[in-house]
Amino acid sequence: MFDLLFLGTGASVPSRDRALPCVAVRSGSDIILFDCGEGTQRQLMCSRFSFMKVRAIFVTHLHGDHFFGLPGLLQTMGLSGRKDPLLVCGPAGFSNALNTILGLCEGEIEYPLEIRDVAPGDELDVQHLKVTVFGTDHGIMSQGYVVREPEIRGKVDTKRAKELGISGKDFKRLEAGETVNGIILRDITSSPTLGKSVAYTGDTSKCQTVIDAVRGVDVLIHESTYSAVETEKAVEHHHSTARSAAETAKEAEVGTLVLVHVSNRYKDRNQIQAEAAEVFPDTVVPEDFQLYSMTSRGIRLI
Ligand SMILES: [Zn+2]
Ligand SMILES: [Zn+2]
Repeated sequence: MFDLLFLGTGASVPSRDRALPCVAVRSGSDIILFDCGEGTQRQLMCSRFSFMKVRAIFVTHLHGDHFFGLPGLLQTMGLSGRKDPLLVCGPAGFSNALNTILGLCEGEIEYPLEIRDVAPGDELDVQHLKVTVFGTDHGIMSQGYVVREPEIRGKVDTKRAKELGISGKDFKRLEAGETVNGIILRDITSSPTLGKSVAYTGDTSKCQTVIDAVRGVDVLIHESTYSAVETEKAVEHHHSTARSAAETAKEAEVGTLVLVHVSNRYKDRNQIQAEAAEVFPDTVVPEDFQLYSMTSRGIRLI
């Protein structure tokens, strides 16, 4: 089960209430960051998560509000004695941009840092998690990510195991992936359950590519720069409204919709929530620093 920490829920420029985009997703003790707006390192320090436990950072696109926090965070990790490797990914051109910025600075980053461009369709392993990349529509090279926990093995059918001549000592071998007398673990267990999943869109207008990519995820973290009264602006700037994000959630049959990247022209998040909830009732509009935990029925503020 994932925990979701909203470190920056604002858009384009920070405000007193909302920092620039960053969502931390934790599974076990491993943390992945999605986007890294300016000020992310301080947001992390003021939160309940340790930035030393961040295993990977995925940037959605090269607008400054989504990645200007990286140089400072990467440097602070080094100054704090980080030894663990860190993977930092973004769309085509990202590694060149970040390496250029880091190359202009004095001082070396001494922990193993891998900076990579990734593209829609790519699949990456981060510790025990699987991250897949999908394309979004933001008028420039942009992409979102789905992170999924491993599937949960089905229950062992002891009666069936007995019938097939599998004894207690054989289980360890089966669990290690071995075949025993032509039997594999799957022959004596019920169907596995899909691992929990979270999708993060970054900036995007409503499009079929996103709907297909996020279909059936447990939590969809979607941008909601505008309210529906400014639909024209949203279309012009390749952004979403609360309503269009909710339509995506509904068409993709996701579990819970979380709206972030809210323009600071909207002071009342209840209004944003209400607009989306007309289309998709299970909608949450978090505040900065709110931590949600996944449950079997959605997400819960903790
Ligand atoms: Zn943005
Ligand atoms: Zn953008």
